[in-house]
Amino acid sequence: MQCPNCRHPESHVLESRSADLSRSVRRRRECLRCQERFTTYERIETIPLTVIKRDGRRESFRRSKMFHGLSQACEKTTVTPEQVKLVVEDVENLLQQRNYREITSQDLGELVLDRLGQLSEVAYIRFASVYGQFANVEDFSAILRLLEKRGEKSLRLGQASQHQDHELLR
Ligand SMILES: [Zn+2]
Repeated sequence: MQCPNCRHPESHVLESRSADLSRSVRRRRECLRCQERFTTYERIETIPLTVIKRDGRRESFRRSKMFHGLSQACEKTTVTPEQVKLVVEDVENLLQQRNYREITSQDLGELVLDRLGQLSEVAYIRFASVYGQFANVEDFSAILRLLEKRGEKSLRLGQASQHQDHELLR
């Protein structure tokens, strides 16, 4: 990275910090020759992703939109904003790794729900209903079965947090 002051090609890194939902790294550098300090951003190259909605309309994938929708679903649950951020990152990384160029909103919703279901039942149900994942009766009963299975497991694992979730559902 060339120094903006003297064009010396070498600098050393004073500080690294992730930015933009961890999609980029901000680095504070110091020129080895003139000690000029400057900032660089390193960004992961991403493939644009298209989401195909149920009615056939296409829309570019937007991380902020997903983050916003998930945050709403997770309001007043045990899920923290940090966990929401991790779900978004996890799903996006998976899609990038698999080189997806397009995905149906249904498949995308399922990827999110898989992860959300491990965090909170309430958030799971809210997200599923807001994003119209209950397209038909079979979908809905599949989700109920999943929740039942999960309920048994979570009762054993952590009654306290699950109890809180059930209170919110009423
Ligand atoms: Zn310099």
